[in-house]
Amino acid sequence: MKWTEIISIIEARSQPKFPILPCYQQFSDGFNQTPQPITYDKLMKENFENTFSRTRFPLFEDAGQCGIDLLAYYRSFHRSQHGWGIYIIDAGVDFVAKKIMELDSKDNNVSTTNKISPLDAEYLAKHKLLLHELGHHATEIVHSVLETDSSNPRLNSYRKYIAAKNSNFQLHDNEEAVCNWNVKKKKRHFKIRAQNYYGIARNFMLNYQPDGYKHFEKIEPRNYLKKITMPPLPQKTESDLKKQFTIHSRLNMVKPFTKKREEKAFQVPIYLIRT
Ligand SMILES: [Zn+2]
Repeated sequence: MKWTEIISIIEARSQPKFPILPCYQQFSDGFNQTPQPITYDKLMKENFENTFSRTRFPLFEDAGQCGIDLLAYYRSFHRSQHGWGIYIIDAGVDFVAKKIMELDSKDNNVSTTNKISPLDAEYLAKHKLLLHELGHHATEIVHSVLETDSSNPRLNSYRKYIAAKNSNFQLHDNEEAVCNWNVKKKKRHFKIRAQNYYGIARNFMLNYQPDGYKHFEKIEPRNYLKKITMPPLPQKTESDLKKQFTIHSRLNMVKPFTKKREEKAFQVPIYLIRT
């Protein structure tokens, strides 16, 4: 999708207030920091080691159904043209990195030679969070395609879907599973060194996350669209929806764009919240 199509969606908003999921509400109430825009490259160079502290942010261990959306989150452009994008919390990265290292040492308790380094664990944590949030972005894009379909537009598709998610936790869980599936699907894009450790990220998603999030292995190319939309899905647009989901869920979406690529999609802004 192009940015101009997105603008038309935002401008067509009929109600001023966009529904917010309880997790986001809980989250946004817990922080006062002003998020700062950050590039992908700068985010990769940042070192968040030891930013996590239980006393400052006890919610991580008690995230309940919110899962990793307390560690990083996505703000939709349907809600506002300003401030939409992926929000990464320094302590969230550190928390995931620490869990990854814990799981690694459990797996390798005999050998000490192949242990994941703190830097590699952090690299993996950042990518796990970015790819999960890109799954939420691509979900919003799928609804945007439905909304802008010239022959059969589904008005307010995303707004209705978010409202439905608020009252039906199964819908929420389905989307979270799709987002974690996106991490699994994109693992080959990790640096070679981190690819060796995907198994640990998988363990993290299976063992440290609530229902929905942990069901990512039940998601397949043939069923994911149904998990993030409401029936009936127009048959003829299904391939276009899948194409757009694929484009917009890639890691490339948070990296700088070339002119040619800007014609097909637009960059997803990243914001950093320091705790
Ligand atoms: Zn999520």
